[in-house]
Amino acid sequence: MSTPYLRDLNPQQREAVEQTEGPLLVLAGAGTGKTRVLTTRIAHILALRLAHPGQILAVTFTNRAAREMQERVANMVGQSVEGLRFLGTFHAICAKMLRRHAERIGLQPDFTILDSDDQLRLIKQLLDAENIDEKKYPARTFAHMVDRWKNRGLAPKDIQAEDVDDFAQGRSPELYQAYQQRLSTLNATDFGDLLLHAITLLRDHDDIRQQYRSMLRYLMVDEYQDTNVAQYLWLRLLCPEQPNLACVGDDDQSIYGWRGAEVGNILRFERDFPGAEIIRLEQNYRSKGHILQAAGGLIDCNRERLGKSLWTEDELGEPIRITSHWDSSEEARAIGDAIHQLQEQGVSRSQMAVLVRASSQMRDIEERFLNQAISYRVIGGPRFYERLEIRDALAYFRLVAQPRDDLAFERIVNRPKRGIGSTTIQKLNRLARASQMSLLDAADVMANSDEIGSKPRQALGAFVDLIRRWRQQSQDMDHINLASMILDESGYTEMLKNEKTAEAHGRLENLKELVRGLEEFQTMAGFLEHVSLVMDNERDDNPDKVTIMTLHGAKGLEFDNVFLPGWEEGLFPSQRTLDELGNRGLEEERRLAYVGLTRARVRAMISTTANRRTWGQWQPAIPSRFIDEIPPENILVTAPETQQLGSWHQSGTALPTRFGGPGWQRMKANPVRRPPSQMPVFDDDSPSHAIGMRVFHQKFGYGEILALDGQAVEVSFDKAGQKKVMGAFLEKVGN
Ligand code: ATP
Ligand code: MG
Repeated sequence: MSTPYLRDLNPQQREAVEQTEGPLLVLAGAGTGKTRVLTTRIAHILALRLAHPGQILAVTFTNRAAREMQERVANMVGQSVEGLRFLGTFHAICAKMLRRHAERIGLQPDFTILDSDDQLRLIKQLLDAENIDEKKYPARTFAHMVDRWKNRGLAPKDIQAEDVDDFAQGRSPELYQAYQQRLSTLNATDFGDLLLHAITLLRDHDDIRQQYRSMLRYLMVDEYQDTNVAQYLWLRLLCPEQPNLACVGDDDQSIYGWRGAEVGNILRFERDFPGAEIIRLEQNYRSKGHILQAAGGLIDCNRERLGKSLWTEDELGEPIRITSHWDSSEEARAIGDAIHQLQEQGVSRSQMAVLVRASSQMRDIEERFLNQAISYRVIGGPRFYERLEIRDALAYFRLVAQPRDDLAFERIVNRPKRGIGSTTIQKLNRLARASQMSLLDAADVMANSDEIGSKPRQALGAFVDLIRRWRQQSQDMDHINLASMILDESGYTEMLKNEKTAEAHGRLENLKELVRGLEEFQTMAGFLEHVSLVMDNERDDNPDKVTIMTLHGAKGLEFDNVFLPGWEEGLFPSQRTLDELGNRGLEEERRLAYVGLTRARVRAMISTTANRRTWGQWQPAIPSRFIDEIPPENILVTAPETQQLGSWHQSGTALPTRFGGPGWQRMKANPVRRPPSQMPVFDDDSPSHAIGMRVFHQKFGYGEILALDGQAVEVSFDKAGQKKVMGAFLEKVGN
């Protein structure tokens, strides 16, 4: 028997591969070859003919990871990889099982798997039928609740009093029941059902359970630390008394606690599967020394961990670069420049990734890349301007700027819900076509007629008035305030706030980021023009692309060069996580930072900005405590080339060693300086404006303040004469 693939393993890895029988846990840090052990193990089982491909179950978390696993196995065993029918994500494998035995759980084999849009539509119908006010109790909130229950393996009958909150006055269990009923009538499932039904199938049908138990001889799970209760229950149901079950994972990389993952599953393994062998791997093959030590130092600050130390034979390599920038646009520019430099050295773009904490960070980076013609792809979500809430917001802005924009009208006339249904919209379309007018004008006419019922009539009238008023106000209001006002008065932000879900929170962050983006343009029209050009530009077929993705999505992947922007308190660690989960949340955020750093093979570059702008307000930002937690000997604090820097920024200077220590205080008190011509005045940093003060404005030059009017300041400029400008764009001259 030839087993050449075994030669590429260290003794512990080899043991994990060769130990094919009985329960086995490989508990090891990032980049130690856990995934490699799993793939080699599959190849080994096939090579020794211990099982047919169809008798092996191998589960991963993302489609991408599954594809990669398949490729790695194919490299070793060739053709037989095709028979690996049970290699895939939890959901994909469950779906396969359910199709085969659909009738046992009351479905037809061709059942539909609803996507989240269809799911929401169904929930809305249900809430409507039950006379539940969707404004007060949004469909999305209910969808998330159902999802959480399903992640815990709870069917309607399993819901206990303590699982119920005040949604619809505590009626959620009954609604859950009704929702499941509707799904089954439609011969459909939602995503969460795939696991829930698969659990029911295996639990309630002895013959099927036995069938799978004897068929699936070898079970394997990657990223075991992130399994949730439902996935765990499903796996247990597939395990015979003495399962050949190999799980690999890393407690330090558990990052889905907020979605119901139970790191306890991995910590309990020995108890769950008596006689389990535990193998630890300590040699890291992915990252250079500095990166590994930096990540190790950081994760050492977590108390809730088993504790392990990793080593590498590889050289130290370059220290982690840490750079502080003035704001996120400069941060994005620096990343773009660095990418150009790396390209000049012959590094391919596919070996570069930008990993962000919040998807709202992507806008600046995408804009910069488009500007610098850097091909990129966003993994795990749409590009910034393609996101649902951004398209909605843009439709509002477009309609105000251009009342004949019928596409924009249709998109938002009933978003948020105003009681303007599809019948009304059909009538509007007919009228508009017949009389050759815009939908907005048609709406105006319709609102003053008896063509439609009084409720939609009022709603239409109010909508037309809103758009017209905003249009009026846009004449003498700056476009940034106008945008915030539109999002507010349309009820759009309120709709998202009511949802109270993490997803809605992300959407709100994106809207804030959109408004921030407006500041880079003189007018709304200029901005809208820019967006349409950017959207058009997005057809880029260069295969060599930089990857932009969230830290969560990057689990298990590796890149030579990793950029980690936005390491600031509030953003990373995320304030929301800290507020909701306290220290537990902080430790999860730190694990996320660990995941981020350990994606890098050769270089990792962390950056932070000194200022963030939200809703048009500047706010000083403080470097993330995680920066302080990286051992000073593994970092190099570098100066952004375009800026003049404070003294602590000299190359090679160690950052403060403890969060809150003197160095950190200095950092806080001493934001990055930029050339005076670009220096805006801060409300909290400098005395506010006063009449008679000498100031400098980038466009109008030097002048003297004549009068103050809220945010606006009246200035007599030496050359440009009297102007009203924004205080935030004035720089004080002299003392
Ligand atoms: P993560 O925790 O991030 O999922 P992992 O433990 O699954 O990491 P792998 O992705 O399997 O680690 O391996 C990391 C890198 O190290 C891969 O490029 C892999 O090919 C390489 N590698 C693993 N083991 C060895 C080995 N024995 N010799 C050479 N390279 C190895
Ligand atoms: Mg892995």
